[in-house]
Amino acid sequence: MSHPHPELSAPVELPKGGLRVTPLGGLGEVGRNMTVFEYDGRLLIVDCGVLFPEDHQPGIDLILPDWASIRDRLDDVEALVLTHGHEDHIGATPYLLRERGNIPLVGSELTLALLGSKLREHRLKETVHHVVKEGERITFGPFELEFVAVNHSIPDALAVAIRTGAGLVLHTGDFKMDQLPLDGRITDLRAFARLGEEGVDLFLTDSTNAETPGFTPAEKSITPVIDQVFRDSSQRIIVACFASHVHRVQQVLDAAYAHERQVAYVGRSMVRNMAIARDLGYLKVPPGVLVDTKDLADLPAERQVLISTGSQGEPMSALSRIAQRNHNFVHIEEGDTVLLASSLIPGNENAVYRVINGLARWGARVVHKGNALVHVSGHASAGELLYCYNIVRPRNVLPVHGEIRHMLANAALARATGVENVVIAEDGVVVDLVDGVAAVAGKVDCGYVFVDGSSVGDVTESDLKDRLILGEEGFISVIVVVDSVSGKVSAGPEIHARGNALDGSTFDEVKQPIIDALDKAIAEGNTDSYQLQQTVRRVIGRWVSNTHRRRPMIIPVVIEA
Ligand SMILES: [Zn+2]
Ligand SMILES: [Zn+2]
Repeated sequence: MSHPHPELSAPVELPKGGLRVTPLGGLGEVGRNMTVFEYDGRLLIVDCGVLFPEDHQPGIDLILPDWASIRDRLDDVEALVLTHGHEDHIGATPYLLRERGNIPLVGSELTLALLGSKLREHRLKETVHHVVKEGERITFGPFELEFVAVNHSIPDALAVAIRTGAGLVLHTGDFKMDQLPLDGRITDLRAFARLGEEGVDLFLTDSTNAETPGFTPAEKSITPVIDQVFRDSSQRIIVACFASHVHRVQQVLDAAYAHERQVAYVGRSMVRNMAIARDLGYLKVPPGVLVDTKDLADLPAERQVLISTGSQGEPMSALSRIAQRNHNFVHIEEGDTVLLASSLIPGNENAVYRVINGLARWGARVVHKGNALVHVSGHASAGELLYCYNIVRPRNVLPVHGEIRHMLANAALARATGVENVVIAEDGVVVDLVDGVAAVAGKVDCGYVFVDGSSVGDVTESDLKDRLILGEEGFISVIVVVDSVSGKVSAGPEIHARGNALDGSTFDEVKQPIIDALDKAIAEGNTDSYQLQQTVRRVIGRWVSNTHRRRPMIIPVVIEA
């Protein structure tokens, strides 16, 4: 990603007594959330998540926030606060801890438990955990933190208030205002109001659903729909949802119990997370409902329920494999019902519809957000955000968590309630809060950091461009041997192509022009092999573009012998 704000330069020095806020991810995309707060030379980080790649990023496993601008200052970090256990908030933490393993991790019980299992997978052992609860206060260096309960699509989510000498900051994290949540834990608007009374100098608010008018429906409103799906199904039911959506899984377990079905989990993260949620008491499994996948297979189809990962169409997930009929033990059959009880994260649409089509092709009935109310969002809609602004009455607002259109919609809501100063910042844009006023102070470099297999940050955007060209156009290799004594082409060009419809004899007509161009270049004194390779590239590139209307990758090799 080239920087969206070329007009900005490096940030000015932070004035004494000022608070600096630097988003390193999540402002401009839904994912890889990470924000750095700086006060009096010390740093506090809120969230450290991942972004999942899209179709134009082939081969990439994950995208991390770019913390290059604080890499030299990791010793100044007082703590990393994790607002909740979603991947877009905790997923990059192991990569940060590889650079400094003892950064204190602060979060709720469930959040740190989910993160803990991830850290163990990454073999990170000596980590420092501070479990906090709503209402609790804890101080790290110059940052006095206070936590506030918020309701979201995962239990135990927290907003965080940050007090420094520069004033009071309130960061909502991801939140909505379900007034009748399954666990009875509502967003603590009384705390929001109390903080508002004290005076919130800077309010960072979740923008994800700012474009959606009205209010996000209650989680309970989908219970009758799930019940109806169970009633209408005469064979197996497969439910796909986020592996962290404890309340959604709870609803499915309850429906299975009511309809005398049994349930097995499919997908590693589902098995792992639901075991954690159950152990900690966030998930209540009705008696006798949960069985092993092996035992489930022995039951008649009309008694089976599978709860699976892969609701975003992730290619390696259980649901994608089921849709391709190459899952180890789940074989989709005509008459099965598949329930996608999840949102469609922007960017995942194609992948999700591919999976839905795959399942439908085998004769499954697919119930999803597009044809039934089987999902409600985890984020506050416009109406809820308006309430928040009116309750908190902040001096300055910085919309976070969203694409630019979401943040702009959120900014408009803040202004509509009378907030005078709303700052729009994308990743890398530095915002300073000085004397109660927030303003853009410059930018730091902030690109995409790609994880590809075991490599972190080595694959660049230009590598991805190459992959796209290779994927769409294939490549042509040209090998020529030049006699270093005579300066003449002594063998070749030998030309090969892969991934396109060009074959060997097609190239006969371009061989002589390549030889002529090389002879001419050498006669003019260009003997450097890099220059000669560029000559070959130009000749064949022009030819293939003019005669075949193609732009494959060209790999010229000139050998001097
Ligand atoms: Zn979330
Ligand atoms: Zn999020």
